[in-house]
Amino acid sequence: MGLEEQIPAGFLLTTVEAVAGTARRSSMWPMTFGLACCGMELMAVGDPRHDFSRFGMERPSGSPRQADLMVVAGRVSQKMAPVLRRLYDQMAAPKWVIAMGVCASSGGMFNNYAVVQGVDHIVPVDIYLPGCPPRPEMLLDAIVKLHDKIGDTKLGAHRRAEIVAEERARLTQLPLIDACPTPG
Ligand code: SF4
Repeated sequence: MGLEEQIPAGFLLTTVEAVAGTARRSSMWPMTFGLACCGMELMAVGDPRHDFSRFGMERPSGSPRQADLMVVAGRVSQKMAPVLRRLYDQMAAPKWVIAMGVCASSGGMFNNYAVVQGVDHIVPVDIYLPGCPPRPEMLLDAIVKLHDKIGDTKLGAHRRAEIVAEERARLTQLPLIDACPTPG
């Protein structure tokens, strides 16, 4: 007798990881973090036309302690960098970051000493969203892609192994630093 015949009708089989993934992605609480012009488009996803409440996100949080999604919308100045990091550290884990727009992703056209050249210098980024500014529909698409990522997240020992593998991959991508010249 196959497994399907042995299970009485009305039972649903799944894994704890799948249940946790569904619960997490269906109830993300974003932290409001508009830094520049992209912040206008970030606000637009909350309007009735785009309505990000459909994704269980109707509660934007003013406090990092009640938020698990940071949408960095706009360029990050060097002065703002330590503040952003402190807010990220205060968010409850597990937590996610979307870099919204070219400025947050890479500094964009602000290639100067005053602007951080990509928010991933300060916090780990899950989704990079191009555009100047990205339209609200693009941010909604990024949120849906983040949902897929969260749904596939492992738990416990599996997650720890995943983190180690991600960290190894990240270290191999870092540029090599030239050895200090020896004094002549
Ligand atoms: S990506 Fe464009 S719209 Fe967004 S903060 Fe930079 S300059 Fe402003």
